[in-house]
Amino acid sequence: MNAASTGIDGFRTRRATCLLAPNPSPMTLDGTNTWLIAEPDSPSVVVVDPGPDDEGHLRRVHAAAVAGDRRVATILLTHGHPDHSAGAARLAELAGAPVRAADPARRLGPGNSEGLADGDVVTASGCELRVVAAPGHSADSVCLLLPADNALFTGDTVLGRGTTVIAADGNLGDYLRTLGELRDLTEAREVGLLLPGHGPMLADPIGTLDYYLSHREERLDQVRSALAAGAKTPAEIVAMIYTDVDQSVWPAAEWSVRAQLDYLNGL
Ligand SMILES: [Zn+2]
Repeated sequence: MNAASTGIDGFRTRRATCLLAPNPSPMTLDGTNTWLIAEPDSPSVVVVDPGPDDEGHLRRVHAAAVAGDRRVATILLTHGHPDHSAGAARLAELAGAPVRAADPARRLGPGNSEGLADGDVVTASGCELRVVAAPGHSADSVCLLLPADNALFTGDTVLGRGTTVIAADGNLGDYLRTLGELRDLTEAREVGLLLPGHGPMLADPIGTLDYYLSHREERLDQVRSALAAGAKTPAEIVAMIYTDVDQSVWPAAEWSVRAQLDYLNGL
């Protein structure tokens, strides 16, 4: 699918702009969404998820960020998976900006930069982002609330199409808790737009989160049925219940099934 036809690249809210990285795949959908966030006419910009280590993309992100004499205040990572973080070091170098992440190993810059803990508030020239811990897809996932635009950056916790997987470093119990907390937050803060790490923007946050929660319950029921029908290994379970998704993502689905087995086993 080409980026122009999806409307993802260049999508804007009042304060956020999406630049789509050229790394489409069954796992990354159209590619990784890199977000620039700033108050209108502000001299500084926050970049969320530089994306892969793709020189062309990073130069484009940098050029857009510093257009009009702006500077990059800080680079934030929604989580450490390489399709979001591999370009962070290069962008930090281009922009002379630090990288903040929940995972200490991903932080870069002066004083080894800061973390991204639940409740932290990141500000750049009056633009305020609130960090919301969102473990589940990965242990280090965070979402970022942009109250001024009633928008929530969801990283890979919620995607613009389909559903996400529980990665090897994720946990389904945490993920279900996170989805419930994001639903509460969406109601309490009147979030009207989810801005995902892949795929298009979602204008019905509650509907999307309810779909995610019911989808997980359905998958758990299917895993229970597959086990009852004699499936033994994660691969056998995937072949039985992931008939509705492309086989190229079955290896990732196996991680999700492992996570579901751990969950059902109370691990
Ligand atoms: Zn991703």
